Amino acid sequence: MSETEDIRFDDLGLDPKVLKAIKDVGYESPSPIQAEAIPALLTGRHVVGLAQTGTGKTAAFALPILSRIDLSQKTPQVLVLAPTRELALQVSEAFEKYAAQIKGLHVLPVYGGQGYGVQLSALRRGVHVIVGTPGRVMDHLEKGTLDLSELRFVVLDEADEMLNMGFAEDVEQILAGTPDDKQVALFSATMPAQIKRIVKRHAPDATEIQVKSTSTTAANVEQRFLKVGHPQKLDALTRILEVENFDGMIIFVRTKHATEELAERLRARGFSAAAINGDVAQVQRERTVEQLRKSKLDILVATDVAARGLDVPRISHVINHDIPTDTESYVHRIGRTGRAGRSGVAISFVTPRENHLLRAIEKTNRTTLVEMRLPTVSDVNAFRVQKFTEAIGQAMDDSQHALFRDLIEDYERNNDVPALDIAAAIAVLAQDGQPLLLEEMPEPLRTAPKERSNDRGPRSRDRGGFASYRIEVGKRHHVEPRQIVGALANEGGLSREDFGKIDIKPAFSIVELPVDLDPAVLDKLSGTRISGVLINIKPDKFDRGHKRGHSGPAQSPNKSFSSAGGKKPRHKKHP
Ligand code: ADP
Ligand code: MG
Repeated sequence: MSETEDIRFDDLGLDPKVLKAIKDVGYESPSPIQAEAIPALLTGRHVVGLAQTGTGKTAAFALPILSRIDLSQKTPQVLVLAPTRELALQVSEAFEKYAAQIKGLHVLPVYGGQGYGVQLSALRRGVHVIVGTPGRVMDHLEKGTLDLSELRFVVLDEADEMLNMGFAEDVEQILAGTPDDKQVALFSATMPAQIKRIVKRHAPDATEIQVKSTSTTAANVEQRFLKVGHPQKLDALTRILEVENFDGMIIFVRTKHATEELAERLRARGFSAAAINGDVAQVQRERTVEQLRKSKLDILVATDVAARGLDVPRISHVINHDIPTDTESYVHRIGRTGRAGRSGVAISFVTPRENHLLRAIEKTNRTTLVEMRLPTVSDVNAFRVQKFTEAIGQAMDDSQHALFRDLIEDYERNNDVPALDIAAAIAVLAQDGQPLLLEEMPEPLRTAPKERSNDRGPRSRDRGGFASYRIEVGKRHHVEPRQIVGALANEGGLSREDFGKIDIKPAFSIVELPVDLDPAVLDKLSGTRISGVLINIKPDKFDRGHKRGHSGPAQSPNKSFSSAGGKKPRHKKHP
């Protein structure tokens, strides 16, 4: 949050109770949009704010509105419309927080998916502030359960997003049913014509406030980039996850499908990850965000839309697994970290073809992203050893420690084995078949997979073995293993661990891919061409069963020290 040092909250004309609440929350000075919007709203003017997320818009409208609330009025006097249920809840919680000193003030979030019962009884008791999504507010209006006839303030939060989500008509209709003399505050990251029309009709002569996007790429977010080829992204990501000291994280990808796929892959590697995208039901999305907030989940894999406006203070890292194609999304994305005065890290993966996007981001935001290098195998191993040692220290305090101590003492006496050897044996047990240390692996596409297939460690397949697939290109088409790997990796989003043996026959080839390959991936691959030939990939009828060496012990990463699954208790950091 960039703050305006010379302006103080005390000078803006806010109610003393509101001032007390923001002191308690810990805000020191108003953000630029707050410094401008608060006085305007206090004097009764309409306000139109063009500002990105993370600029402090909620307080910009909530503080002046709360300062002017009339507690004796029993019908609703404030209506805030927000695009999604999560945002409505966030705003409603913020109102509660800023109104902590105003006894008897009632705020009601109104959104779909929640029973009408709660909302109706609250409405009957009397509510001052309603925060809702346009859809549910419309439902209430149609049912006649919401009286907006004495409304004094209307706020349209993230107006452009509301329109993008198809709420234009609802918004128009809701506004049409409100008193003419209401005061309007409208906030939007962009100002398309449709919003200009709403402004013209409902907020004439508004005070217009524009907060430049430069002030939103917060100085407290460390911005880095990593040059990486598409097929190496997963490997790069897992290494970063192992060595970065993160608390909560959002990983942005481009498609809905990719959110699910990547979350699944991370879970298979022992990370606590979940996907959110526009297709995930609201209730589920909200539950997921709540889990992240409560540290029951560490990583969200999200699309831009799904993560818009998310305010979870423990998000220490944002990773752009797929760099955004527009510079504005970049700002939105990295604004998910460095919340509430904390510091954050944003890492963007840049493939060779995406250099221009990186340059555009740097230019528009007038910042330089610092190039980082891929954590090496020894970086990763140093962290694993450190985590292992920390885990020992923590286990010393465990309630079962004394019991095990006795058992080991017996073992030592009965078998005449030094305690040190017993300890080492138990560490092996705890690893559950997984090597503690990562082994130096050959560069992915430079080595033909055929040559590598025999010396794979058990890490090479997380979830069991390989199955054979037939593709209709072979020696006749002059294909080489690396072309096959390259094409399938690119089109199917596969990584090098996903490939087993590749056997090139005269007219076709047999490729080993994970047995549990997502059918959707196969689907995507069906249209792939190699050297111009449609590969027509199919499970091989004579599954030639090249399974040796691949179907090593099933991994249970959560129990091991060599992945992040068990990181939780050992990783509580972030001073
Ligand atoms: P926006 O709606 O513009 O995305 P929010 O209102 O959600 O932004 O505020 C973003 C974050 O900044 C929140 O965590 C909020 O508590 C914090 N914040 C808002 N105003 C201030 C301020 N004046 N000083 C410090 N932190 C602030
Ligand atoms: Mg907001």
